[in-house]
Amino acid sequence: MVVEIDYDKCNLCGGYNEPLCIDKCPDAALSLREKRIVVTEFLCEDCNECGYICPVDAIIIKTVTF
Ligand code: SF4
Ligand code: SF4
Repeated sequence: MVVEIDYDKCNLCGGYNEPLCIDKCPDAALSLREKRIVVTEFLCEDCNECGYICPVDAIIIKTVTF
């Protein structure tokens, strides 16, 4: 998985009920836990829908190289 949340930037847009990235993720890979967005790694397909929708660029898609 390569999605990381920058917690310094994330302002939980949409409030606790409907953060945009959670709403957008087609694979339910994002969830809210203890007031933070967390990524369930094995569900994420790196589609970057969350990265596009985030208004403050708090979602970083990293490229993994082996
Ligand atoms: S990259 Fe796609 S699958 Fe992964 S968390 Fe973001 S929206 Fe969900
Ligand atoms: S879309 Fe961005 S600012 Fe909004 S909750 Fe997700 S990571 Fe945070």
